Amino acid sequence: MPTNKYWSDIVSELDPYVPGEQPKLSNLVKLNTNENPYGPSPKVLDAISASLGDELRLYPDPNADLLKQAIARFYSLNTNQVFVGNGSDEVLAHIFQALLKHKQPILFPDITYSFYPVYCGLYQVPFELVPLAEDLTLCTADYKKANGGIIFPNPNAPTGQLLPLADIESLLQDNQGSVVVVDEAYIDFGGESAIALVDRYPNLLVTQTLSKSRSLAGLRVGFAVGQSSLIEALERVKNSFNSYPLDQLAIAGGVAAFEDEAYFKQVCQAVIDSRGQLVSELSALGFQVLPSAANFLFVSHPQCDAAELLAGLREQGIIVRHFKQHRIDQYLRITIGLPEQNRRLLDVLAGLLGCL
Ligand SMILES: *Cc1c(COP(=O)(O)O)cnc(C)c1O
Repeated sequence: MPTNKYWSDIVSELDPYVPGEQPKLSNLVKLNTNENPYGPSPKVLDAISASLGDELRLYPDPNADLLKQAIARFYSLNTNQVFVGNGSDEVLAHIFQALLKHKQPILFPDITYSFYPVYCGLYQVPFELVPLAEDLTLCTADYKKANGGIIFPNPNAPTGQLLPLADIESLLQDNQGSVVVVDEAYIDFGGESAIALVDRYPNLLVTQTLSKSRSLAGLRVGFAVGQSSLIEALERVKNSFNSYPLDQLAIAGGVAAFEDEAYFKQVCQAVIDSRGQLVSELSALGFQVLPSAANFLFVSHPQCDAAELLAGLREQGIIVRHFKQHRIDQYLRITIGLPEQNRRLLDVLAGLLGCL
């Protein structure tokens, strides 16, 4: 572990998150970080351009009210049920500190978003991993034990598997004494949002991001939805950390993203259609493909080592994600790309498999 005499103990002990590569080469087929292959709505770009001007000398609205209102309108909520932050990663960080830090350990799956244990390290939140079933599905009965909170993505990452709303509801009923956080980074690609349950469950918090389904990973906008008392806890942390997490451009672009529902639906549907096609073509190449409700697939090949496939793809300019983690080291996570990128992926994979 690296260390230095000037570092605090906590910094010396951190084990930071490692994001997927953002390569400087532009000719790569980039299928490694679940970005949307389609650009943002033209109306978003117009709104950002329109907000570029002298006003940048002013601080932005610390409460990002226009954005909260746009999200509240989209989901038929009150604005005091919405919290916004600089990407959902920041929103999640505040959640760990504000609502998940208790004496009892929080619970999350052994195979999940690898930022969760990192936040636990940063904020000293005790946690316990709950193994996914053999088929990498989440079994709600495994969460029936004392806990300081529960968090998981739905659909899960990196598996892409979706937990039905009825299962989420039983988790909420079984855990009324703790907060259940549903990280819906990928929900717009075919899942049913737990936002519908917020009014009935005071222990439910749902997070979403504009990075995936709304093609705005570069703008950094995420949000959380829950009853106002949970949102208030997040506001207290936010206002003790950074008054202006969202800049003027992000607020303007975020509002426009929620107003252009037609574009949003069209892009999600295009990704869903490509996913269906990619599933059948990868299966035809002998891959085992987990059922995905996300904008990526989690695949393995019975005759082929995942790390070797990763390297072979990379040599031919295609990058996908591989996790050197127990239980999933024979899987690759592949982001759904444009139709021509998916075609190229399939052609290169067919070539690699042919030379076995
Ligand atoms: C991408 C992702 C996030 C983070 O999204 P940002 O809003 O870009 O910070 C959060 N959770 C999961 C599971 C993700 O895959």
